[in-house]
Amino acid sequence: MRTIEENIHDFQSRLSGTNCRLIAVSKTHPVELIREAYDGGQRAFGENKAQEMMQKQPQLPADVEWHMIGHLQTNKVKYIAPFVSLIQSVDSLRLLQEIDKQGQKHSRVIDCLLQFYIAEEETKFGLDLEEARKMLRSPEYSQLKNVRICGVMGVATNTNDEQHLQREFYRLRTYFEALREEFFPGAPHFKEISMGMSSDYQLAIAEGSTMIRVGSAIFGNRDYSLAK
Ligand SMILES: *Cc1c(COP(=O)(O)O)cnc(C)c1O
Repeated sequence: MRTIEENIHDFQSRLSGTNCRLIAVSKTHPVELIREAYDGGQRAFGENKAQEMMQKQPQLPADVEWHMIGHLQTNKVKYIAPFVSLIQSVDSLRLLQEIDKQGQKHSRVIDCLLQFYIAEEETKFGLDLEEARKMLRSPEYSQLKNVRICGVMGVATNTNDEQHLQREFYRLRTYFEALREEFFPGAPHFKEISMGMSSDYQLAIAEGSTMIRVGSAIFGNRDYSLAK
């Protein structure tokens, strides 16, 4: 079996020369394994639960970049607001307002991505393009000073059908381009398309992903029975 460090090195070399970064998805894994990835040079980690992220953060070096990639309830934003690097899963104005409030409290601007619904599965969270436009046009949004929207995120359908996946990734990229043109023209920070996981990251990169979120291909399979 390959070690976590070797897996990290494989991804780093695969991504070198591309416009795409690796977010190592460490959810359910203990800090010892995150430390192995860190020692392999990885700095950006993705978690999907606020409390889990909050518990791990002080146990790891301060230059770790923490990315929230799971559905975030407004009452949990406070746990991660002091240190989170990027909240990738913003799916409502209400959540964005709470992130802004917590950002203000900690005197920082919190970077966010808008999560879009691109998959067929009913359970997936996210906005559609019209909802996002409505939010970005709203007077409430224009008042927010402590959040910065840096791009889009999406989770594709869990399928082996490559054409289908390609269509979903392509759709997310067109959402990104439409929003950039309408709301963020000439804004260099609006540049992220977070898409692609262990099983489909190659297709996502081909469709323009700037961040792949990879868990099991680095850390092995997750054991949810250990999760609290
Ligand atoms: C768990 C998770 C991933 C990583 O999934 P793998 O298949 O283990 O690579 C990526 N994105 C999101 C939103 C996740 O919840």
